Amino acid sequence: MSNHQAQSTFYSGLQQTLEQLREQGLYKPERVLASRQGAEVVSADGRTLINMCANNYLGLSGQEWVAQASIDATEKYGYGLSSVRFICGTQTVHKQLEQAISRFLGTEDTILYAAAFDANGGVFEPLFDENDAIISDALNHASIIDGIRLCKAARFRYAHNDMADLEKQLQAAADKRHKIIVTDGVFSMDGTIAQLDKIVELAEKYGALVMIDECHASGFMGKTGRGTHEHHNVVGKIDIITGTLGKALGGAMGGFTSGRKEVIEMLRQKSRPYLFSNTLAPSIAGASLAVLERLSSSTELRDRLHENTAYFRKEIERLGFTIKPGTHPVVPVMLFDAPVAQKFAARMYELGVLLSGFFYPVVPMGQARVRVQLSAAHTREQLDTVLKAFGQAGHELGLLK
Ligand SMILES: *Cc1c(COP(=O)(O)O)cnc(C)c1O
Repeated sequence: MSNHQAQSTFYSGLQQTLEQLREQGLYKPERVLASRQGAEVVSADGRTLINMCANNYLGLSGQEWVAQASIDATEKYGYGLSSVRFICGTQTVHKQLEQAISRFLGTEDTILYAAAFDANGGVFEPLFDENDAIISDALNHASIIDGIRLCKAARFRYAHNDMADLEKQLQAAADKRHKIIVTDGVFSMDGTIAQLDKIVELAEKYGALVMIDECHASGFMGKTGRGTHEHHNVVGKIDIITGTLGKALGGAMGGFTSGRKEVIEMLRQKSRPYLFSNTLAPSIAGASLAVLERLSSSTELRDRLHENTAYFRKEIERLGFTIKPGTHPVVPVMLFDAPVAQKFAARMYELGVLLSGFFYPVVPMGQARVRVQLSAAHTREQLDTVLKAFGQAGHELGLLK
């Protein structure tokens, strides 16, 4: 085969695969916004929509004071560092942010990454080897799965949120030197909160460590928003916490790993996404610091988010929809049938509501849904508009009596 032929086979192969994705309804189009992120957004075609599908739990992404904090940090520290952390890429603002995250989470130290994806990708390999075992929830985030793949430790998987199976896996891993249980603090498809109280109990019984990924929890779960560990009263009993700055904590980007100081020190020496990737921009570090200061001084946003969540959950059920029960601001409204979920999301868009439909293989067969995500930024009036649209679309599609 000539080089030219080899190249054209490569490109036509890609075209075919992309075509198959479109045919199977698995192609992911991107929505283009022309406004800031917020409770209301303007799409590129000029439509104003109430946004019910952002991870903007505390409503901070588009807020003026957060944007201003990032501008202030840029003024002071410049645009970027052109360096990894250990060469000449660490500024006072990065150290301050690491300390603020540790205080917020109740840990000893914290290391920043360009994304939580990198935090999870770089956490296992430096800490565990073939003598050890990683025991992971079957529905853990893709970045945890990838991070585990990069590590030589033995892998054990327990059925999602199934404590009996977790115990079985802990027994199967009994002869390993170190064992670590890994779970999302909150699972974003269902809003399921990991049973950390039980997980910690099992970890103590079997001498295992515990790691949680707090991307859908940091900033608003628990009485003062510290996360799932606060929600379940196990602050101080979690060995490793990973999280993102790209969701509730401001929404730009960036991630972190937090825990005992020797863990963080080892990651600074050996974690590849930290060693070989650029420093987080000072604008993000400065704004994240301002966000953590605000969240540490008041639970107002967290409280408003939970009020909005409770209101929406109650009212959507009152309309006659089935939701996955729970308390998290992720509210899966179950429509079961994939084409119905697609039609429903499209109709809601026409009615001025942005939300996303999920169907197989993202969720199990027959579990198609639209996922609503509440924000502290939503007003009661906006939620009522959304509920009204749910009612209308539900009747039009024959889903409600
Ligand atoms: C969003 C998410 C991530 C990735 O976070 P980024 O900072 O955007 O890379 C990792 N884990 C979980 C559970 C997430 O929901």
